[in-house]
Amino acid sequence: MADASTPQPTQPRVKTAIPRNPGRHELGMKATLLFPDKEIVERFYVPLVYTACRTCYSELDPQEIFRRAVDGEVNAAAMQRLISNVIESGHGSTIEHIVFTFALSGVSRTLSHQLVRHRAGVAFDQQSQRYVKFKGAATMLPATIADADASLRERYEEQVDGALGLYGDMLEAGIPGEDARFVFPNATRTNLVMTTNLRALIHMSGLRLCTMAQWEIRRLFQLIRHEVFGVSPFLGSFLAPKCVPLGYCDEFNNRDGHCPIRPHKDEVLGAWAEKKAAAKTAGRDLPVAD
Ligand SMILES: Cc1cc2nc3c(=O)[nH]c(=O)nc-3n(C[C@H](O)[C@H](O)[C@H](O)COP(=O)(O)OP(=O)(O)OC[C@H]3O[C@@H](n4cnc5c(N)ncnc54)[C@H](O)[C@@H]3O)c2cc1C
Repeated sequence: MADASTPQPTQPRVKTAIPRNPGRHELGMKATLLFPDKEIVERFYVPLVYTACRTCYSELDPQEIFRRAVDGEVNAAAMQRLISNVIESGHGSTIEHIVFTFALSGVSRTLSHQLVRHRAGVAFDQQSQRYVKFKGAATMLPATIADADASLRERYEEQVDGALGLYGDMLEAGIPGEDARFVFPNATRTNLVMTTNLRALIHMSGLRLCTMAQWEIRRLFQLIRHEVFGVSPFLGSFLAPKCVPLGYCDEFNNRDGHCPIRPHKDEVLGAWAEKKAAAKTAGRDLPVAD
């Protein structure tokens, strides 16, 4: 019998539906890479990360390593290979030297509240609901509500429009914006500027491109990935759901395997347990500690 530390094969679960891609709906939000442009990325970004990596292992000073890299004296494919290796090995400080600044507009406060939870390696500035008087505040309509029974959708719109109408009336009555805004729904749209280093961007993308992420923030990170791809397909290729570099899914809510991008951890451990049991039956122990 397997001991308690041996991962147990899991019972097959009934699968729920494959998560829908939020990219199918036009959500009216935008993500634009403000800085750097393609020229700067192509000239300096890979050389910068390469310099950070090589400095650890070289007798040369970083000034000389950087000069050689920028002047084309280092093979471009070799630079990329080194960078891929350090990223895959988790040597994250090397990719904190390069940053990306995005303009994010038309996202809901529901989204922005999730986004600004990220703390390390990322800076935000967001449109103020104290200082901006919203004459015609725009809102986000989720697809499920847009496609819902007409009377439900009508009630939703009445509620949202009613809240915005009351906001306008309160401003007219002299109530300060900072108090009138208390009536704003989560659907209210907002704008932000976000600057993030590559390490933080990979981390955030890993979580937010995952199909377990909320549809709106997932769509935002699809747009962000598209922007980074526009200036560097190489650097953009690291922006992926976290299961892609991991090789398996570690999300508890995907234990039924309904998201098929990678097998769930339970399945991988189950396969491992079977392999281990088969090896034991054959009189061999797999060469790992229990
Ligand atoms: C699918 C999904 C569902 C979520 N649901 C909820 C929810 O229901 N309720 C809720 O409140 N939040 C929820 N969140 C937000 C989540 O709990 C985190 O607040 C968010 O992901 C940001 O934290 P982070 O670990 O990604 O770290 P970041 O702040 O992005 O930092 C990156 C990494 O730096 C390190 N780090 C940062 N700060 C510290 C520190 N102080 N000490 C040590 N290490 C640190 C950690 O390794 C961390 O992972 C959800 C997130 C996702 C992706």
